[in-house]
Amino acid sequence: MKLNIKDKFNQELPADPNKENSRRQVFESCFSNATPRVPSSPSLVHASTEVAELLGLTAEDLKSEAFLNIFSGKKVLDGTTPYAMCYGGHQFGNWAGQLGDGRAINLTEVEHNGKSWTLQLKGAGETPYSRTADGLAVLRSSIREHLCSEAMFHLGVPTTRSLSLSLSGDEVLRDVMYNGNPAYEKGAIVCRVAPSFIRFGNFQIFMSRGDVKTLKQLTDFTIKHYFPNVEQGTKKGYIEFFQQVADRSMEMVVHWQRVGFVHGVMNTDNMSILGLTIDYGPYGWLEGYEPDWTPNTTDAQMKRYRFAHQPQVVLWNLLQLANALYQLVEDAKPFEKVLESFQKNYHLEYLKMMSQKLGLEKFNGSTDIALVNDLEKILQLTETDMTIFFRNLANFSKATNIESDKDFLKVIEDAFYQPEEVKDDIFENWKKWFSDYAFRLNKDSTSDKDRKTKMNLVNPKYVLRNYMAQVAIDASDQGDHSIVNELFELLKKPYAEQPEHKKWFTKRPEWARHKVGCSMLSCSS
Ligand code: AMP
Ligand code: MG
Repeated sequence: MKLNIKDKFNQELPADPNKENSRRQVFESCFSNATPRVPSSPSLVHASTEVAELLGLTAEDLKSEAFLNIFSGKKVLDGTTPYAMCYGGHQFGNWAGQLGDGRAINLTEVEHNGKSWTLQLKGAGETPYSRTADGLAVLRSSIREHLCSEAMFHLGVPTTRSLSLSLSGDEVLRDVMYNGNPAYEKGAIVCRVAPSFIRFGNFQIFMSRGDVKTLKQLTDFTIKHYFPNVEQGTKKGYIEFFQQVADRSMEMVVHWQRVGFVHGVMNTDNMSILGLTIDYGPYGWLEGYEPDWTPNTTDAQMKRYRFAHQPQVVLWNLLQLANALYQLVEDAKPFEKVLESFQKNYHLEYLKMMSQKLGLEKFNGSTDIALVNDLEKILQLTETDMTIFFRNLANFSKATNIESDKDFLKVIEDAFYQPEEVKDDIFENWKKWFSDYAFRLNKDSTSDKDRKTKMNLVNPKYVLRNYMAQVAIDASDQGDHSIVNELFELLKKPYAEQPEHKKWFTKRPEWARHKVGCSMLSCSS
């Protein structure tokens, strides 16, 4: 197994001089050294050949003992010094002080085909940032992270990737619903891969301590390596950098809204500076189209991180990042300008994205706004599956005469959880909407066939529904990893028909409606 090691973060940025693995506050440093804990009997559950290829690893490498040793934390790669990053963050709207990589250990950075990747183990034991926790992760949350990272990538959503999922052979104690019922679960380790794991919180921690020197070092480092077209070391450059982070974050959240992904814990320590979806915890996928839905039971009261609120939270998080970068610029105006334009541009980007989901040639102003707004309301009148609705909408013919054709709703009926509710008022609402939709489609010259092809590229057929991950978890926990493998392969082609897998193109089964892990998730992982 050969990796082309090119460390930057732990070579160019200030290190914590304390080399002990004791929990503490760390000052004026971007990271602390931390060695992964040796697992008692590691075994590989699954590895991604595509991610391996990015790193210059072969399918043969994935089967080797060396691979298992390195990516379960048993051995440290020669010539590398693993480390945990220092960062802070706002959790649920409140400043939480120093957080840091409490259970993530960056192994090294590698270069392959002109691209640079950081390899990071999650769940490989304690670090100086572990606070009161154990630094470990369990199989259920690791399966969720491994599958969802790759599913999101193949959906076209910016995300961190996942190379491998291993069992440690050790037991980990968790109280899943935080209700006084702790139980032992299987420990697991995921190797995550991204150009960088720097978060908004990495900048915030130095701002909170008035440490402008280290803040500047980290910002200059980030610009130099990840924002090559931004001017280095100037106030103008810092503002341009902020603008680009805002643009990337907006792109990310528009994609989330397109595919129905709810992150669940959008704290500023979980916001990647590269605009990547990061830290897959109590995330979930919309099934019924419910703008107020959040999968995270910790957030059940406030619903701060509910589906429809995600874009606003990105903006709020950007404001916190602006507060940190302000110390390098000392002028609030340019930051305010970026934040104001985010607000305006987001609405336009969202509408453009929705008009693509509807198969419109081009977003056309106020009539299309009404079409989108009306649809969002009607989708909530009775529980309607978001993924099935949009996927099947592509089968609608614009020649349909809504007045005379009693069966116009047939194309989307599979999306209704309670089809018997679709009568009277609800039926009339749909009738009006489909009549507007047909009218609008007839203004475009696109044929039904071409529209369907285009819609199928933005409306996935297969997403990682919450219950699907749980089915894979239950089997894996019993030692059968075949469903992890099956879902991994399925989700590589979320837009393809894959008729052989059509059992996964279905509404959430009733047994999963209120089941822990399917509709309710906690941060316990
Ligand atoms: P999260 O909200 O899950 O992204 O985590 C917030 C903070 O808690 C981060 O600093 C994590 O590294 C830390 N953390 C979460 N779980 C653990 C754990 N089991 N052991 C140590 N630190 C943890
Ligand atoms: Mg986190």
